[in-house]
Amino acid sequence: MQKIQGNDVIIEQFKMGYFTDVTEKMQLNEIQKQPFRISSNSISLGTAAKVTWAKIELENLDKKIQKIYLHHPYAYHNHKVELYEVIDNTLVRERILDMDNPATLQWMYRGSAVFDIELQNKKTLYIKSISFSHQWFSLNLYNEDQSKRALLGQYTDIALLVGMILALIIYNFLLFISSRLKEHFYYSCYLVCGGFWIALSYGMFADFFNIFGSITLKWHLSLVAMPIFLILFMINIFETKSKYPIEHWALISIIVLLTINFIYGLFDIVTALKYSSSLAAVMMAVSLSVSFSMLFRKHSIALFFLIGHGLFVIFSILAVFFYKGKAEFNYINSHGVGIGIMLEALVLSLIIAYRIRILENLKIKQADLQLLASTDPLTQLFNRRHFSLAATELLNKAKQMHRPISAIIIDIDHFKRVNDTYGHVAGDKSLRCVADIIRQQCRKHDLLARYGGEEFVILMPDTRSSKAYALVEEMRQTLERTEVSINKTLSIRLTMSSGITEVKPENINLDDVINQADKALYTAKNNGRNQTQLSTF
Ligand code: GH3
Ligand code: MG
Ligand code: MG
Repeated sequence: MQKIQGNDVIIEQFKMGYFTDVTEKMQLNEIQKQPFRISSNSISLGTAAKVTWAKIELENLDKKIQKIYLHHPYAYHNHKVELYEVIDNTLVRERILDMDNPATLQWMYRGSAVFDIELQNKKTLYIKSISFSHQWFSLNLYNEDQSKRALLGQYTDIALLVGMILALIIYNFLLFISSRLKEHFYYSCYLVCGGFWIALSYGMFADFFNIFGSITLKWHLSLVAMPIFLILFMINIFETKSKYPIEHWALISIIVLLTINFIYGLFDIVTALKYSSSLAAVMMAVSLSVSFSMLFRKHSIALFFLIGHGLFVIFSILAVFFYKGKAEFNYINSHGVGIGIMLEALVLSLIIAYRIRILENLKIKQADLQLLASTDPLTQLFNRRHFSLAATELLNKAKQMHRPISAIIIDIDHFKRVNDTYGHVAGDKSLRCVADIIRQQCRKHDLLARYGGEEFVILMPDTRSSKAYALVEEMRQTLERTEVSINKTLSIRLTMSSGITEVKPENINLDDVINQADKALYTAKNNGRNQTQLSTF
């Protein structure tokens, strides 16, 4: 018996009776004869209690009539809510709220059912809740003022949670756009499903948009789809396909099961939801086993993942027990999935940041390796391999744009003598010196490489042979003037011969171009060396 006295009616926790009508057909007069079980005013009974009655006995200890308000804050979640007011076993007022019938929704306010009740002496309230799938509800009693307060801001925490998830969705989607890494895409899909389900199940859609009833029933498929994306995320971050085949197939099998349940849910959502708790348990067992396996294999992100996913699993287990009616109706249990997703998302963000760092380092390493593979170690100029690749591109571009391009081959004169006279080390040193002189005369867009032993090659885009001639002559004269120092006491003088050819648009074959320049070089050598020759086609 709930005794009401004075104006301070805020009864958020009280004892009531409940009775589950498994026949789903009983009328009030039959219900009144049934044995009601004592419970708290918030209950969760699972899927086998679709029609459940609650009974609250009220007594007014004041002389004047009290106006009180009965709240059913999760009414949006039910199919129907019916209220019967009984005095001395006689029905005095009944109200029927069918979420699918707009004409009956006058007592619905932002997702909650709110019934005003006048209380003179004693009254018994019978509240019938008909659920679509899982039966869980809460009942509260307030005076007018407290009723208003309870309705205001009752979803602020959920709005905050959904807002944070939305920010993470946008962040991960942008990461996907910029990096094209599938893991970001799967992770944002996971959060889209999770965030959507939280907004649906924790009353935000009902509160903000007044959407509830059986049209939203299918929307619970988002909860069935959510783990599919988490598993896809795992496959990507652990790279199981290429590295861990056993774990990969375990994860793929779960995806198959979840997908079957999802497709089944398109036709029969209630049955799909019935199986989803058990499937969630199987999925968590597999995902946790894979995470542990990754930890034993010392995968660098396994620990982070295990902590994040572990938090999700712990809170989801609480939620599963809550929905099955086997755990207490409290804030944490009833919001377990949302809390789990949020905590997991925060920890997984660390993984994403860590993965980005690893991939950045890998990219830098690859760039270093590529540079190493295309550089000549002695002179630090490009090597012949790189030249061949880059030159073909430059020649094609010149042809497309109808721009002139010149090719030059340079060979040091009588270089064998340097080696023979001063030794190989001195030869190497002077080679580096010649390479520096040539490099200094080249422009930014010229392609310079060490082509062979003491031969260099240059491709000068947008350059006529006359301009190339002037540049190469500059190099030749500089070398001629330079004293190449061999050691502290000895320096020598070197000269070079060069052949230049201007590429004709129709002649874009690199070998032909090099042959042409080589011919000019041959002429330079024959004509006495230390000179530059132009080839004529
Ligand atoms: P020419 O004026 O006709 O070019 O005479 P040359 O002596 O320079 O003849 P050639 O170009 O045929 O000789 C190339 C010589 O360059 C052979 C080799 O001793 C030397 N050489 C090639 N690569 C290297 C190198 O990496 N280091 C050193 N020290 N010498 C090299
Ligand atoms: Mg040579
Ligand atoms: Mg030579």
